[in-house]
Order: sequence, then C-alpha cells, then structure tokens
Amino acid sequence: MDISNPTLKKEEKAQPDDIIAGAMRITGVKVTYYFICHTKLWLFSHNITLEKEHDNVNIGKQLHEDRYKRDSKEITIDQTISIDFIRKGDTIVLHEIKKTKSMEEAHRWQMLYYLYYLKSKGIQATGEINYPLVSKKEEITLLEKDESDMENVINDIRKIAMGRMPAPEKTRICPKCAYYEFCFGDEV
Ligand code: SF4
Repeated sequence: MDISNPTLKKEEKAQPDDIIAGAMRITGVKVTYYFICHTKLWLFSHNITLEKEHDNVNIGKQLHEDRYKRDSKEITIDQTISIDFIRKGDTIVLHEIKKTKSMEEAHRWQMLYYLYYLKSKGIQATGEINYPLVSKKEEITLLEKDESDMENVINDIRKIAMGRMPAPEKTRICPKCAYYEFCFGDEV
C-alpha cells in the first residue's frame, strides 16, 4: 500500500490533539485496519462493530498468557495504547503476539504506531512481534522515515473516516471477516 502522499498540505498534517483526543481518536486497531481494508476501517470508525471474539483472538490471547504471564506488564495510555512490555535495562520493549504472518504488514505498522505514539509522550521503546506458532519474531524500530509515513497514515485514516464509506472490494481475507455479510450478503 502506497502511503507516501506528496500532495498533503502542511495544514493537513496530523496534529497531536487529533491523534489522542476528539472524535478522530487514532487507535492501534484503526491503523491495522487501514492496512487491511479501508471499508473495515470506515465501519469500525463509525462504531459499526460486528467483530466477534472468534478463534484467532482467543488463540492469540492464550498464546500471550502462556508466554508472558510471568514477566510482562501492560502500558495503557489515553485509552489509546494498551500493550504489553518488558523492560530490558534502560529500554522498554513492547510485545505483540500474533498467530500468523498473513497480516505481517498491518502488524508491523500497528507496532510502529505504538512506538510513534509513545515517542510523542517522551517514551523511547522498541517493538517485538512474536509468531510462536511458526517460531519467528520480528524486531521493530521506529525510524525517521517511519515517522513521516505515519503522519500520512494518520491523515489518511482521518480522511477515510470522515468521508463516504469506501466500496467493499472482495479479497482473500473477506470470507473470514466479521463484516462479510454486511459487504457481500446479497451474494451469499
Ligand atoms: S468483508 Fe472484505 S471488504 Fe468487507 S470489510 Fe471485511 S475485508 Fe473489507
């Protein structure tokens, strides 16, 4: 997904208040949905939440409890960030547990958003995404370029949420999506 948007005017750049407060609170879920499906992002942003506690979520929670129950704590800030972390010396390492790598890009940007958000609060951190079922982990560091890209993502999320619902486009992930009937019910 192309997130570089050279046409953004300066006044369209995300402002800190837009990120943490007001009607357009940007949460990690919204960042994830931005990279998965703009229709899903729009529906979620309008509180049309059909997502159920399905198996993947439950498996993810169980994986997390099994792996980190002894040494992790949770950071919750502004009701926007809620993520487990482990302190290693002077560094805070955020942890996310994911079941599969199929949404890798979305997972990566969600973690980058957490790092970006914490940095805006003066908290330096790095991230680690764990895929225990395939014994892989990805270490995430917020680079300068990521920060400007993230500003574009935040602005884009805001524009999508404030606009008309993007038309659903069927992809391989749709059949597993809780909004499937909403989007394609007449085709079932
Ligand atoms: S069913 Fe497909 S198009 Fe509709 S919200 Fe879900 S992922 Fe997006």
